[in-house]
Amino acid sequence: ALPTPLSKPWLASYEAGVPHDFTPSGRTLFQLLEDTANRFPQRTALHFLGQNTSYKELVKRVKRFARALQRSGVKPGDRVAIMLPNCPQFVVSFYGTLLAGGVVANTSPLYTPSELEHQLIDSGSETLVILDSMYPRYAEIADRVPVKRVFVTRIQDELPFPKNLLYPIKAMREGTLASDSFKRDPKAVPLRFVLKLQDADPVPVTVGADDVALLQYTGGTTGVPKGAMLTQRNLVANAEQSRAWMVGLQEGREITLAAIPFFHVYGMTTAMNMSVLIGATIVLVPNARDIKMVLGEISRTRATLLPGVPTLYNAINNHPDTAAHDLTTIRACISGSAPLMQETARAFREITHGANLVEGYGLTESSPVTHVNPITGEQKDGSIGLPLPGVDALVMDDAGQPVPTGEVGELWVAGPMVMKGYWNMPEETAKVLREYAGKTWLLTGDMATMDEQGFFRIVDRKKELIIAGGHNIYPREVEEALTAHPAVLEAAAVGVPDAYRGESVHAVVALKPGMQATEKEIIAHCRQLLSPYKAPRSVEFRDELPKTAVGKTLRRQLAAEARERLEKE
Ligand code: AMP
Repeated sequence: ALPTPLSKPWLASYEAGVPHDFTPSGRTLFQLLEDTANRFPQRTALHFLGQNTSYKELVKRVKRFARALQRSGVKPGDRVAIMLPNCPQFVVSFYGTLLAGGVVANTSPLYTPSELEHQLIDSGSETLVILDSMYPRYAEIADRVPVKRVFVTRIQDELPFPKNLLYPIKAMREGTLASDSFKRDPKAVPLRFVLKLQDADPVPVTVGADDVALLQYTGGTTGVPKGAMLTQRNLVANAEQSRAWMVGLQEGREITLAAIPFFHVYGMTTAMNMSVLIGATIVLVPNARDIKMVLGEISRTRATLLPGVPTLYNAINNHPDTAAHDLTTIRACISGSAPLMQETARAFREITHGANLVEGYGLTESSPVTHVNPITGEQKDGSIGLPLPGVDALVMDDAGQPVPTGEVGELWVAGPMVMKGYWNMPEETAKVLREYAGKTWLLTGDMATMDEQGFFRIVDRKKELIIAGGHNIYPREVEEALTAHPAVLEAAAVGVPDAYRGESVHAVVALKPGMQATEKEIIAHCRQLLSPYKAPRSVEFRDELPKTAVGKTLRRQLAAEARERLEKE
């Protein structure tokens, strides 16, 4: 038996019609895809710029790619780095690598050459799958990394009529057309070429549920990147757990708008793997910032699911074209990865005529989803909801003991979705995985509370606490107040040095298009909602806030910049 406060938190999830009991199927990711292809062979799996690929065809392409990898020398356990936006090639390379027994090492298409270099070396990737326009960044560091073979692919290769559909391609290019730059590189093979040539099935390799499937690098907002080792079981379990949560989904009928990137595990699980699990059509949008395209694709394909991040919903809410599109087919959305401001959720529900936009929570190390508000039943604004089926969650004090219900402590989670550890970093692993009450727990580094019904709330990241005049201030609370101002589009609260208080709260805000507000007004507004010590003492205006590829505000960067400016003054 688990100690309190675990005795009754599951009550609310029973009430929401979701059982706490959960056993992962133990399938591999490729089996997941193959099972769906057997159930719904003709169903469109991928929809990309007007082009459809059925589940049956997808499996065929995945097998071809796996065969191509094997022929080129990839052995089970070898890392295959993927540097691609959301496009059919991503899905093919991901499942193909796994079928060949390889380990996917996801890289962000936004990486600079030196970030890419670090990750290719750290992961020991000898194979790289990359989009042609990103190739020049790899070429800069090619001599210093272990990569032996490169598969280069172009967006056009997926299109039957490249000319009239060039607009999103142009948006993804970084000024230069790179198609020619790899032609002279003996290590580079165009993927299109490989997929045409290889038609045989791959050589069968044994892939077990506990084999590592993915190295997912994390720590972009907190420090040195570490590769979280996620196993087949971890990733399949999390897709199945998320699916169990989404009561009312129709197998073989849903249409997922996949704008959030697959190279982040949040997009991978909620937009790709869970869609594959339920036989949904995945509508691929390569650039989540292209809201025009997101809107166009939702209304054209009549998408029903839109997993996303707060920035995406916020951008949709405030885009000039939104009113001209029908978004009412959207039924369910999990917002994860960063706090969802209540105003964002409210406005989004309004423009979609009542889509179930619910806040969830997770982290890379847990594949990633651990908590979500019930899709049906009671939702609590500002809460991350309840643990998913099969997830155990505790709120713990610094001594490693549970805190009383309602009090703040660090969130610990356990379950089949918790990573095996960090790649080649046993000391870092030991800091975050801990045995307690007969289970292995992941220490999330997030401060949280749990109420009587078992709803959790993230107070903030442990490390981002602002301490002003001896008071603990959680940035999230200040940001909630800032975004409640009608002119504020997005906001961040950070701590800056203060001679009297140690630290004081500095706000960085971006205003909605065409709106105005002064520093004084914003501070006065916050003082109405917050105790005086929590209200910002200074406000800085920006056109937009800097974010990670998945839409997390880079608070640390903002804090560093504010500090630097203060020192100069
Ligand atoms: P990552 O590993 O990059 O996915 O980052 C995980 C971190 O994102 C968590 O540890 C939280 O700090 C943050 N996060 C995710 N979801 C939420 C949420 N709903 N509210 C607040 N923070 C969140």
